[in-house]
Amino acid sequence: MVARCSSAVIVGVDAREIIIEAEVGTGLPGLTLVGLADAAIRESRDRVRSAVEHSGLTWPDTRITVALLPASLRKRGSALDAAIAVAVMAASDQIPAQMTVNTCVLGELGLDGRIHSVPGVVATALALRGSGRRLLVPVSEVDDAGLVPDVAVGGVRSLAHLIDVLRGDAVPVPPGQAPYSERRSAGAGIPDLADVRGQSEARRALEVAAAGGHHLAMIGLPGVGKTLLAERLPGLMPPLDDETALEVTAIWSAAGMSTEGLLREPPFQSPHHTASASSVIGGGQGGHLRVGAVTLAHRGVLFLDEAPEFSRNVLDALRQPLESGRVRLARAEANAVLPARFSLVLAANPCPCGRGMGVDARCSCTPMQRRRYATKLSGPILDRVDLRVGLERPHLAQLGEPGESTAVVAERVRAARERACARWTQDGVPWRQNASAPGPYLRERCPPDESGAYLLRTAFARSALSMRGADRVLRTAWTLADLEGRDRPGVDHVAAAMALRGEESPWAA
Ligand SMILES: [Zn+2]
Repeated sequence: MVARCSSAVIVGVDAREIIIEAEVGTGLPGLTLVGLADAAIRESRDRVRSAVEHSGLTWPDTRITVALLPASLRKRGSALDAAIAVAVMAASDQIPAQMTVNTCVLGELGLDGRIHSVPGVVATALALRGSGRRLLVPVSEVDDAGLVPDVAVGGVRSLAHLIDVLRGDAVPVPPGQAPYSERRSAGAGIPDLADVRGQSEARRALEVAAAGGHHLAMIGLPGVGKTLLAERLPGLMPPLDDETALEVTAIWSAAGMSTEGLLREPPFQSPHHTASASSVIGGGQGGHLRVGAVTLAHRGVLFLDEAPEFSRNVLDALRQPLESGRVRLARAEANAVLPARFSLVLAANPCPCGRGMGVDARCSCTPMQRRRYATKLSGPILDRVDLRVGLERPHLAQLGEPGESTAVVAERVRAARERACARWTQDGVPWRQNASAPGPYLRERCPPDESGAYLLRTAFARSALSMRGADRVLRTAWTLADLEGRDRPGVDHVAAAMALRGEESPWAA
C-alpha cells in the first residue's frame, strides 16, 4: 500500500512543501529513495532504519520505495528523516494512514530515535498558516514554530513519541508561550545613543536616516566613533510590527540562526570588508543557497565599515538590493528571490592611509590613491545615499556633554515617520518613507515653500547641485520638516539638507 506524509525543505528563506510517498511491496528487502536527493538524504536511509528499530517499531523486512516529490526540487539536509519514517510506518500499517494526511512533520532522526532540531521551522509554520494542517516539530523548536498564529503546532521528543501522537495515543508538547509573546524585550540588545559623546552632526544624521529611511555615509578618521554610531541606528528605528517581526524571524530561522523568540529589534549586520560576495549578498555552491548579510539585514541596518575596501564584486552586487529590496540568486538546481530591504550605512576613512582629514592632517597618500579611494563607491551606490557626513575628532569639552538618549530621539523618529506615512497614504502613492519618493514626483508635487525653492533653484543654477543632488536634498528636507512637525519644508530645512549631503566631503556630488 502507498502512504503519504508531508514535510518541507528551505529554499533560500522560504519553505517548500515536500510530499513523501512510501510503498511497501514484495521483493528483496531494501529501501529505495526516489527523487533528487543529496548525500544527506541517502545517509538518512540508515538513520531512519536505526531510529525505527530503536523505537520499539518494526522495520518492514521487504522492498520499500520512498518518493520525495516534487522530484525536480533538489532536496538537502536531514529535516525529512522523521517524515520518511512516518510514511514507512503508515505504509506498513503500523499507524493509520489517514492520521498522516493533514500533518506536516519536520525533524532529523538520531540513530537512537531521538528527534533533533532543524533550521526553518518558523518559515514552515508561516507557509502552513491558515491551511488547517498540523505541524509537528522537534520539541526544542516548538516555541519558535508556535510564534506563528493560525497554525496548530506540536513538539515531539522522539520517533516513538511522534508515532504515538499519530496513533492518537499521546499528545504533542504545546508551545510554552502564546503567539507574539517575547522572550527578549524590544531594544534590549541595542546600545544607547547617550553613550556617544560629541558628534552632534553625525547624531543628527542618524536621526534623519531613521526618520526618513535614508541611507547614510560617514567619513572620518579611524577611531572617531563611526561604528559606535552605526550600531545605535536600529534603536532609533521603530520596533518591528507583528507581521514584519514574523517575516524577519522566519528569515533568521531559515538561515539556521537562533533568535530566542520573536525578533522585535531591527536587525544589524556588519560584514567585514574581506567578506566574500556569497556571504554579503548570498549564494553558494550546489543546491545549497546561503543567505547573505543583505538578507539577514532585511528590515534593519547593513553597516559596511571601511566601505571602499570591499571588493568591487560585492559593491557592484549591492546595486540590485538597493534598487529592488531583493536579491535574486540563480543556481543550476534552484532559483530563489530573497528579501533584502535594509538601511545602508557606509563608513570610510578620508583616504587609504586614514590620516587625510582635520587640522593636522598628515596624509601620505598620492592624489591618485585618494581619487581612486573616493571613487570606489561613486555612481549607483552613492547615488542612493542621501546623507553624507564628515566626522571630526571631538574636542575635549564636547566629550563631557551628555547626549540625548535613544528613547528621546526614537520618539521624534516615530512621530516623523507617522507624519510621512500619513502624507504618502493620503497621496495614494505606494511608498511610505521619504527616501523612497522618486525625484520627479517630489519636484512636481512636493516642492518646498517659496524661499526653500529659491535656495534650491539658485544652488542648481550655479552648478552647486546636480539634478540628482537636488532630489536628494529635497527628500532630506521633507524628513527634516517631518521631524519638526511642519507641513512643508522651508528654507532652513533645505539649507540643513544641503549641509547633510556633505558638499565638502570627497564624495560630494
Ligand atoms: Zn591619506
